Amino acid sequence: MALYTDESIERVRQAVDMLDLVGAKTELRRSGSQWMGTCPFHDERTPSFSVNAADKVFHCFGCGEGGDIFKFVQLTDGLPFRESLEQLADRYGVTLELADEDPQAAEKRQHRDRLLELLERTATWYVRQLWETDEARGPREYLAERGLEEQALREFRVGYAPSAWDAVLVGLRRAGFSERDLWDAGLVRRSQKGGLYDFFRRRVQFPLCDARGRVLGFGGRAVGPDQKPKYVNSTDNVVFHKGRNLFGADLARVAAAKASEVVLCEGYTDVIALHQAGLRNTVGLMGTALTEDQVGELARLAPVVLLALDADSAGQEAMLRAAKVAAGRRLELRVVVLPTGQDPADLLLTEGPDGMRERVAASVPFVRFRVDRVLASEDLGSAEGKDRAVEELRPVLGPLPASALRDELLAHASDRLDVVPVKLAEWLAQPPRGGAAQAMTRRGVPAEPAPQSAPAAPPARTIVSPSARVERSFLIQCLVLPQEGRAALATLDLELDILTPVYRRAALLLMEQLGGQLQAPEGDEELASTLAELQVRSARAQSSRAALEAERLRLELASLERRIQSAKTGGGGNIVELAQRREELQSLMERELEETLLQTKHTD
Ligand SMILES: [Zn+2]
Repeated sequence: MALYTDESIERVRQAVDMLDLVGAKTELRRSGSQWMGTCPFHDERTPSFSVNAADKVFHCFGCGEGGDIFKFVQLTDGLPFRESLEQLADRYGVTLELADEDPQAAEKRQHRDRLLELLERTATWYVRQLWETDEARGPREYLAERGLEEQALREFRVGYAPSAWDAVLVGLRRAGFSERDLWDAGLVRRSQKGGLYDFFRRRVQFPLCDARGRVLGFGGRAVGPDQKPKYVNSTDNVVFHKGRNLFGADLARVAAAKASEVVLCEGYTDVIALHQAGLRNTVGLMGTALTEDQVGELARLAPVVLLALDADSAGQEAMLRAAKVAAGRRLELRVVVLPTGQDPADLLLTEGPDGMRERVAASVPFVRFRVDRVLASEDLGSAEGKDRAVEELRPVLGPLPASALRDELLAHASDRLDVVPVKLAEWLAQPPRGGAAQAMTRRGVPAEPAPQSAPAAPPARTIVSPSARVERSFLIQCLVLPQEGRAALATLDLELDILTPVYRRAALLLMEQLGGQLQAPEGDEELASTLAELQVRSARAQSSRAALEAERLRLELASLERRIQSAKTGGGGNIVELAQRREELQSLMERELEETLLQTKHTD
């Protein structure tokens, strides 16, 4: 599957000058064995971005972003792995070697590459049609009326497919592409008589690209009122799959990473208009309801998604759906409140770029949006209406953990319901009445997915529980003294002693790779970034056998404590034995800690 050999990837890693690479994006200052600078991925004044030049990894203590040289280029230049590798190879003069491919796979890839080339040429050709032909005067005027400027339209490579039946067909055949190529790329259709004709005719063409900016297909908008349907999209084919990508993701990537937020809206022109207004972290759906794939894509772009969907009921349903698809992911959903019947492109025309930016900045947590929706839909002047509103609020507010946001929403809702907050809280705590009982599972948990809880909290990756902290400290010490670390790791029972899934994977990897080049398996982004963090932290940790041993004991002690708790509640195990072991460990640890303190004094 890999296009280049592992050896040549390693040669690139060795050739790259980490300080030179990172130094081009942020100024670095030496701090002990580390280099520090302000983070290129989030706004900050005091540097929390740390670089470990020896291991060639980085980690930001502010936003949690981290990884190796390839990840750095992926993030700063918005490139996928393969391109970041090629760019670095080029810059540091390493020749990449192609890995062997089986002939069938090679043929498939070549066919795909050919289709991509064909689509690329077609997109370029459509752009020329839009700006250089008389036929496209009407479409140009339509776009101008929508407030879209040439520069933004050119950036998105918006084009025009003329009304002729065979313009694309003839042009591409002349350029040497076969009928099969044209068919596979979704650019032609077959008539009843068997002949081929252009699929997109007399339409404004929006190229649909993947995250790398490669054209996969087109969305075509009708220019005349006689044309039906208003929008046609490429149908699924060898390269295009409906619902897999987001419109504008390639152009929004860098801005979204920097802002840690991505704006999601519906239409192509909305996306272009928002980019034009300076909200360059905006992406769009491609004529479908939000899919799982698209939610994954959003999560790759940023941890916070701002939904700027139409305020009509279809748009509201879309938001509820989005929340359902996003449930269980580490994705914070917020809603940009738009007036009914107006999409972002309309609003830009009436309120201007500043007005739109203000609306985006005033986004509300998704749960707040749901509360408002309930309050707006019931007649709060009557007792029945109030009761219904309380029933509907229960699954929304019930699962919210105690937080400032929950208090605020309770206060807000009780104000509208004209009751004191304590009373409302009491009502909400009661079991649902009548038909609403069906919405609950037997354990009294709402069957509906929990709303995006506590959106006011910082991104989840910066929260480390006490047990995870102990695990992390231990792994850091293992990195400091690789040989001893390996031995210490071997004494553990990973299933029992390390609870945090990513640290457990890290421990397994360290057992195998400690002392050599650490490499997370392909696709495990979380592990790769965790490794980088551990490496950065290890370079600033004190190095001594006693410190390692102390951390190992602390870990074992925490694990033992859990076993004792479990034994107490009848989970098996001999409490007396376990408690005895605990005492042993505690005294051992005290000794190690004393030792560590003594050593620190000597080095002072
Ligand atoms: Zn950062």
